[in-house]
Amino acid sequence: MKSSYSARFILLFFVFFCNAQEKSPRLTVVLVIDQFAYHELQKLLPFFKGGIKFLHDNGIRYINAFHAHGMPETGIGHTTIGTATWAKDHGIIGNSWINEKGNLVLCDQDNSPHAAVFSPDGTYNFGVSPKNIMVDALSDQLRLNSFPHAKNTIFSISLKSRSSVGMAGRLGNALWFDTKTGNFTSSKAYFKELPAWVKIFNKERNIQNMKSYTWDLTYPKDDQAYQFYDLEDYEYTGVKRSWIGTHEINHNEKDPFLFFEKTPNANKLLLDFAHECLKTHITDNHNERFILWLSLSSLDLIGHVYGPNSLELIDMLYHVDNQLNKFIQSLSQYVPLQETLFVLTADHGVFPILETLKKRGIPFAHRMNADELIKVLNDGIEEKHGIKNAIAHFKMPCFYCSKEVCSSPRPRYNAIIEDIKKELMATPGIKAAWTYKELIQMPTLPRDLKQYYKNQLYHNRTGDIICQVQPYNYIDTYTSGTAHGTPYDYDTHVPLIVYQKGVHENKTIGTTVFTPQIGVTLAEILNVPRPSASTFDVLPGIITEKKLES
Ligand SMILES: [Zn+2]
Repeated sequence: MKSSYSARFILLFFVFFCNAQEKSPRLTVVLVIDQFAYHELQKLLPFFKGGIKFLHDNGIRYINAFHAHGMPETGIGHTTIGTATWAKDHGIIGNSWINEKGNLVLCDQDNSPHAAVFSPDGTYNFGVSPKNIMVDALSDQLRLNSFPHAKNTIFSISLKSRSSVGMAGRLGNALWFDTKTGNFTSSKAYFKELPAWVKIFNKERNIQNMKSYTWDLTYPKDDQAYQFYDLEDYEYTGVKRSWIGTHEINHNEKDPFLFFEKTPNANKLLLDFAHECLKTHITDNHNERFILWLSLSSLDLIGHVYGPNSLELIDMLYHVDNQLNKFIQSLSQYVPLQETLFVLTADHGVFPILETLKKRGIPFAHRMNADELIKVLNDGIEEKHGIKNAIAHFKMPCFYCSKEVCSSPRPRYNAIIEDIKKELMATPGIKAAWTYKELIQMPTLPRDLKQYYKNQLYHNRTGDIICQVQPYNYIDTYTSGTAHGTPYDYDTHVPLIVYQKGVHENKTIGTTVFTPQIGVTLAEILNVPRPSASTFDVLPGIITEKKLES
């Protein structure tokens, strides 16, 4: 009797172990499409035929996923996904901010020689590292919880360094595209020297000697997939003509590949590079896990110029859809789909070109000129308090005061801040203005948009005054094109799909979820501790081994 119990127990254990091993993904691919707003997925879903459609139709679809930041942007979005926390914890409050000395800091900037970026003949005189990320990332936990017999290999690849770094953390391997040379590169913060396989890829692709490149439409021009309003309205776009077609590369320019990056060719190159990365590193050892963070940046780069309703942006997404289809298929020759976990999401959304929106009948849509607004504010302060250029910097949504204002006695500083706030509140299109202290002390609920701004407060990085614009309003340093940077649905609502064949599939979840939950969910699935500062729940609808046991 006793022995049959033991036999049954051993059998059960064996079945569970085999099941667990089968279900635990050997390969995890996190696809972050930069600026892929949920409203774009809604609009174009009927026309997707490739990888986006495949993941959408087969995966767990979170239709209410949000980046709950007041100013969603690339650096903050990717770091939030990478660290499973908001900017108030990870510290990347934007792509850049003004430091205590009054200097502009790029979020991944590091001037130490230990972070020097590799150039083809040595290193550049600037550096990139994760030093400004103030918490550990999921990539760090995955590396810390590797074993000699069961390694976790982590690569983070993007066209933009800040996206790659935000997901690689300190212990992942970050790689990105160098617009000066057309090569993939990294910095000494991640590698002693550029890995041999990267050098070989760069040499074989020989992008640096490319003379021209072509962007062809995915479908015939008269296809239903292009039947939208404002499709070829170039009145308020950053470039006043279409970008579809053939372009020569001017090698005499400082960044000759800056425009190449804004085409589907760049995403294709990135996915080929990711494929090469996987081919080089994947092993037959079933105890090893490979985590690939991929950020596809071209959509954002072209979206800023042409807006979300343009032919360029829509066709870029059709290309991404096709490219992902080929990419997903190519992965299955190394790891079966049943053992590959996919996450598809975005770092932020986008709003339409505001002038075009106004033409369409939304009268309050308005782009405020940042320089003109600051001049009005500074003139008022000079007249009343006798201080010139009281606002020294503006970086949406923060106004940073000059050293003279900041070093003034507190009553005077407070009076100046109150006057700036009063003027801002009287400006059409501005909904609210707070100081750091006011905002942090304000009672809010998690779904309150004020809470989105609180999620983004970081001492000595956030400015003296934080402002919230009204919907479809923006304070811009550019006079054309569009942006993202408000707490509204169009900027913060992003697609989120989780898919592993036979494990996580075929569900629509309407519960509101937040993007830091992605990292917590991956930690749970991959059975490593979550990033330390994260207090979020696993995404609903995900059944993990831990949940099965309990
Ligand atoms: Zn952007």
